[in-house]
Amino acid sequence: MSTFSVDSVRAALDELHARIERAGGTDVEIVAVTKTFGPEAIEAALAAGCRSIGENYAQELLDKREVAASAEVHFIGQLQSNKVRQLAGVVDVYETVDRAKLAREIAKRAPGARILIQVDTTGEPGKGGVPLADLDPLVDHVRDLDLDLIGLMTVGPTEGGPAAAAPGFRQVRAAVDRLGLSVCSMGMTADLEVAVAEGSTQVRVGTALFGQRVRTRSDQER
Ligand SMILES: *Cc1c(COP(=O)(O)O)cnc(C)c1O
Repeated sequence: MSTFSVDSVRAALDELHARIERAGGTDVEIVAVTKTFGPEAIEAALAAGCRSIGENYAQELLDKREVAASAEVHFIGQLQSNKVRQLAGVVDVYETVDRAKLAREIAKRAPGARILIQVDTTGEPGKGGVPLADLDPLVDHVRDLDLDLIGLMTVGPTEGGPAAAAPGFRQVRAAVDRLGLSVCSMGMTADLEVAVAEGSTQVRVGTALFGQRVRTRSDQER
């Protein structure tokens, strides 16, 4: 069972900043991933000095929307188009746009919204993301919509340890630069050093801040 407090989250944040610095990061944003935890995780993150929180599941985020209102809310889970309407007033940055239909729905329900395109760098099922080979057509499509495309996001591989993430992270950073974007969202608790070394500008961290998640909510929501 995970227990955290404002003090423990603050200490964990200090340690995270130290890890990022040792990895050579200078201006890396930390998104506190609060999925599966109650609203008190968002409150603790904000009290400890985080501005941004990340949530994965639409209904769970809606349940916490009141507390989340004082944070910059990043949606980092796989997103169904039919959930966008409800999320429109709640989410500030949509990080997992990986298909045209979803982009069009966000443009319709949340015109001008900040989005990242999620790139699939592992081929592992269940992670989402557009393959690198299909990235440019999606970027072109998104740029014709009323959306603010600010960057790319990717999730490292589950298998192979942190070092296995490096090649994919490098490709995503190269794509961010080539496309003239500014945000490169990559790196989680286990692979943030690799991500920062490869040029991440934003890490999404849950476990290192709040402890182990007891369960995922995905089963009950799908
Ligand atoms: C859960 C999750 C994270 C945080 O993972 P930790 O290993 O707990 O730091 C980051 N990004 C995404 C997309 C996630 O689903």
